[in-house]
Amino acid sequence: MKWHTLAVHAGTEPDPLTGAVMVPVYFTSTYAQEAPGVHKGYEYSRTHNPTRTALEVALAQLEGAAYALAFSSGLAASDAVLRLLAPGDHVIASRDLYGGTYRLLRRVFEPWGLQVDFVDTTDPACVEAAFRPTTRLVWVETPSNPLLQVSPIAALADLAHSRGALLVVDNTFATPYLQRPLEMEADIVVHSATKYLGGHSDVVMGALMLNRADLHDKLRFLQNAVGAVPGPMDAFLVLRGVKTLPLRMQKHSENALKIAEFLATHPKVTKVYYPGLLTHPQYLLAKQQMRLPGGMLSFEVKVASVEELEGFWRALQIFTLAESLGGVESLINHPATMTHASIPEEQRLALGITPGLLRLSVGVEDPDDLIEDLKNALSKIS
Ligand SMILES: *Cc1c(COP(=O)(O)O)cnc(C)c1O
Repeated sequence: MKWHTLAVHAGTEPDPLTGAVMVPVYFTSTYAQEAPGVHKGYEYSRTHNPTRTALEVALAQLEGAAYALAFSSGLAASDAVLRLLAPGDHVIASRDLYGGTYRLLRRVFEPWGLQVDFVDTTDPACVEAAFRPTTRLVWVETPSNPLLQVSPIAALADLAHSRGALLVVDNTFATPYLQRPLEMEADIVVHSATKYLGGHSDVVMGALMLNRADLHDKLRFLQNAVGAVPGPMDAFLVLRGVKTLPLRMQKHSENALKIAEFLATHPKVTKVYYPGLLTHPQYLLAKQQMRLPGGMLSFEVKVASVEELEGFWRALQIFTLAESLGGVESLINHPATMTHASIPEEQRLALGITPGLLRLSVGVEDPDDLIEDLKNALSKIS
């Protein structure tokens, strides 16, 4: 089945009871049993709920995975993956990483006993050098947040497997429509479904997709035993969202490229980070492992402090200043004070997260309006 067909039909069949075309939202916590242990596959909604099952089937199909598991947030999904490890185990993670993933590793799992190194995963040699005898997992975000660095999934999978470690790829920025890490031998794909999978900024959810039955059994156990599961309404919203995933991702990418090209020639912009620009250091790799470069981009303006951006924020009419990303509406974010504030300042600056760095989640509006909005706001920076 081709992509646009799959996105519309994955996980949804007319309801056998009523013929309802959309999967019903099963607002129920429990299920009647004919006799103790005799039931229709559902006992309690932390364990299974039919709306969530439909979503998990759809997500597995979209990612080309044998299994998918839905969680109450992207971080809950990430937490389940890290619980596969034991105290003393070592993790190698991308240096450019979603702030919440960094915080989870540093403030929750390091005190619990994991050892974590943050390295430049765009270069397999840097990853190789970080390996220890206790390394069990390599955690890669590609493209990364907020600097849109692209890491070579297939090469990192080979490397991780040759050392007996798992490769986990956070595929939130790309989505399965643009990038299929499992086909490049990654072991587990992590998503914040809050972003493009949901696609409308109206739900918080996470998901894991994978092929290995043994890992699936452990993660399914954790999903139920820890209990960070999404409710049926949230499952319904994401199930509805993914039907337009390919349409949205095409438009997000098209708009982002136009904006990146505009910003690259703007005199007040010193740097543009977008994998679809020839000047991006991993342009060729992105072209190879992604269908399109996606809807996220970052750029830098020359300011000494965030205060100098006051006129810029105030002038914006269409871009909303907000955390998060991946919805149909365009958002702008200031990583240093917002999404990446949990990373110490010294380290932020070393990474390139400067006071003048701005991250855009380019929506599906008309690109001319978006460019006009940015052009006007940039004129307010002295
Ligand atoms: C948002 C995000 C997460 C965390 O997901 P939540 O749904 O907010 O818990 C993880 N990784 C990336 C790349 C994200 O953008």
